[in-house]
Amino acid sequence: MQFKDIIGQEAIKQRLINSVNENRVSHAQLFLGPEGAGGLALAVAYAQYLSCEDKQPDDSCGVCPSCRKYQKLMHPDLHFSYPFFAKHKDDTALTFIEQWRDAFTTNPYLSLDIWRGYLDADNKQANINIAECHQIIKKLSFKPFESVYKILILWLPEYLDKEGNALLKVIEEPQPNTLFLLVAQNQDQILNTILSRTQLIKIPCLNFEDIKGELMNKHHQTETAAAEIAYLSNGNMTEALGMLQHDTKSYHTLFVDWLRLCFGNKGLDVLRFVDQASKMGRENQKNFLRYGTSFIRECCLLRAGADRIVKLPEQELETAKKMSAVINNAMAQAIITELEKAHYHIERNANPKILFLDVSLQIIKVLSFKITPTGTHYIPN
Ligand SMILES: [Zn+2]
Repeated sequence: MQFKDIIGQEAIKQRLINSVNENRVSHAQLFLGPEGAGGLALAVAYAQYLSCEDKQPDDSCGVCPSCRKYQKLMHPDLHFSYPFFAKHKDDTALTFIEQWRDAFTTNPYLSLDIWRGYLDADNKQANINIAECHQIIKKLSFKPFESVYKILILWLPEYLDKEGNALLKVIEEPQPNTLFLLVAQNQDQILNTILSRTQLIKIPCLNFEDIKGELMNKHHQTETAAAEIAYLSNGNMTEALGMLQHDTKSYHTLFVDWLRLCFGNKGLDVLRFVDQASKMGRENQKNFLRYGTSFIRECCLLRAGADRIVKLPEQELETAKKMSAVINNAMAQAIITELEKAHYHIERNANPKILFLDVSLQIIKVLSFKITPTGTHYIPN
């Protein structure tokens, strides 16, 4: 992650770069800013800059061996810690490192909700457990392997509980050339003992123009659409990116593709969909399921010849017409029931992966085998 890839926050970037060039790098720093401001991305870019072998005046070089490893979050002197949902008491952040790299490289503005989608979270509470604290102490006890600095980025220290006190010693008396970067959102939920031992870097939320520009340049939004999302997102890039996916056009494509896969009973492709859907984040998943329900309802209206009251845009209408020729009312009702049930469970924090797999299997039953999800009755036309 380079500074140039981070939206706005020019003053913070400059401050971080200056601290390196003026040799004022504090060994324990707390990046504190609201969700979607880019705290985690800034910490990673800062760490990459510190380790870069060919530092430019305003950014890391992006091509040296260190930068290349950093881009993949695979540098031996870069460590991460974050909340997770432990299945076994020995689970640590390292257990989930693959998912973590995937999540961050896909979206450096990820939230805990999005992160949850990468893990089999069930109803568990996220936390950073004592096993992880011990792991951190161990990791930081080694000398750096390749870089001048060994860096640990701890995302959301709010989830440390009182076990975090085990870390005080490494924060207070670190090994030489060891940096501890904490990235937090809520100051009052951090252990005071940790707060008092770190240098605070306050990160403001993004401004309207930064978000609008990003949406236009990188996400191909029209000026009007970008302005609308930027306005609604309140300076929160995570939210803005989520809203991009709320675009009903993409819901439409995703939903119709899903039905097609189920109709063709294409196992592997269905699993791929399940994977994609499980990473959308809860709000997005709920909206997607809601979109599906109303789309199927519109198909029923078309079947009933009530074209006049169907509100779909032209292209979606075409698909709905084709769909309504294949799906009869009993099937439509069975699918709607499944989607509504899924919505209910998503709201109650069901594991999205298991949930979307289950709904897919039910829809396959309905579409490919014409049986109701609950029984084996043939669905009449
Ligand atoms: Zn470099």
